[in-house]
Amino acid sequence: MGLLDALFRSSEILGIAEETLEFALESSEASHPNEYMGLLRGTEASRLGLDRDGLVITDILVIPGTESNSVSATLKTSQVPNDVRALGSVHSHPNGVLQPSNADLGTFGRGSVHIIIGAPYRRTDWKAFDTRGEPRRLDVLGVELPDSEEFFDFTQADIDEELQWD
Ligand SMILES: [Zn+2]
Repeated sequence: MGLLDALFRSSEILGIAEETLEFALESSEASHPNEYMGLLRGTEASRLGLDRDGLVITDILVIPGTESNSVSATLKTSQVPNDVRALGSVHSHPNGVLQPSNADLGTFGRGSVHIIIGAPYRRTDWKAFDTRGEPRRLDVLGVELPDSEEFFDFTQADIDEELQWD
């Protein structure tokens, strides 16, 4: 089992927290004209006050060293902390095309939901896809997030700190 296979574990995904979606849209706009890219992480629905089993996408992890330009964002897998479990990915298309590229399709096999956000980054300028690049439903859930501190971009110092705890 490779590192990325270990990172992407399947679980039932109920949707994405509204705040998390807004964060991704804002981050994509801030990155323009370069691509924004991150990994999606989830929180148990029960921890968010939902009486359902499954996971809600609540966090976006931006990996340090991600190289981004207007047509691609390359994740350096060596920079991904070992304990990170991702449900999928999110990235932006500054050209506004809400379709996976051929390169995207090559990476979608890992993780079960992949969000593409396109310019001009309005609330409706995004789509979710499955592992095969087919559009999939992803509900936007107005849940209260337990800890807003979970919204941050990891720095190398954070990762070193996390690794020291192991
Ligand atoms: Zn893409």
